[in-house]
Amino acid sequence: MSAKKWLGQHFLVSPSVIKAVEALCSSCSGEAEAVLEIGPGKGAMTGGLLKLGLPVIAVEKDEELARSLQISFPDLDVRVGDAREITLETLIQETDRAPWLVAGNLPYNVGTKILLECLQKPRWISALVVMIQREVAQKFCAECGEAGYGFFSAWSQAFWHAEMKFPVPPGAFRPPPAVVSEVCLFLPKTEPWLDRGEMAGYWKFLKAAFGHPRKTLAGNLSLVQGSKKRWREDLGGEGLLPGVRADQVPARTLCRLYHHAWNRER
Ligand code: SAM
Repeated sequence: MSAKKWLGQHFLVSPSVIKAVEALCSSCSGEAEAVLEIGPGKGAMTGGLLKLGLPVIAVEKDEELARSLQISFPDLDVRVGDAREITLETLIQETDRAPWLVAGNLPYNVGTKILLECLQKPRWISALVVMIQREVAQKFCAECGEAGYGFFSAWSQAFWHAEMKFPVPPGAFRPPPAVVSEVCLFLPKTEPWLDRGEMAGYWKFLKAAFGHPRKTLAGNLSLVQGSKKRWREDLGGEGLLPGVRADQVPARTLCRLYHHAWNRER
């Protein structure tokens, strides 16, 4: 069966990487009642997930791969479909199990979208282990001052501990991708910086804050809400200079600014 490029098929073949992913999944599976594998492909990670002794559902878009996977792993519950459409909520309703360990070597073309979907569900996910291209990993895991820090990392850090655990070189896959990948671990914060009910509002705030990368934070925010003068005062209250840009402000501070200033009467 040859790899289908349009489905982002790069199959993991390195035994040492497979073992390391297996160990990581095992170390963070404690609270999970079930496992969701996204894009199992030929099953490189699937055997390790089944060893956890929890029910495993695997969502694979490639019908041909899904069929042979079901034959290789009779205990696996394989669903043919798009991981963006077979939602965790549906699986929870169906199985009455939560939270879930979600794992996958994500297809590059839809990796960001699938990851974002998952990160909106800290309530239902006890741990998320994903292999993604380094550039995307940095976008979600970077701290302020590190490469890639921006909208996505500022958003996810409010609700998740995000960590790049180890790199995976192109040679670990067949066919090899053009880029280095990273295995990332996301754990929901027991004390998130914002309420989960503030998720959508914080998203809008960050959209405004990072809207024009070269503009100042006060300038960007005032394009959507409030005056520049007032925002500069708010920044001053956080010890920030009036000309600071959003990517120079730690996620924790952005959360505070959102919480205290974004929704206030103006
Ligand atoms: N997990 C396998 C491994 O590590 O060898 C395969 C990883 S490969 C990078 C991505 C897998 O996701 C492929 O099997 C591909 O067919 C599948 N896939 C692509 N788009 C998908 C989607 N939207 N929903 C579910 N699976 C998808």
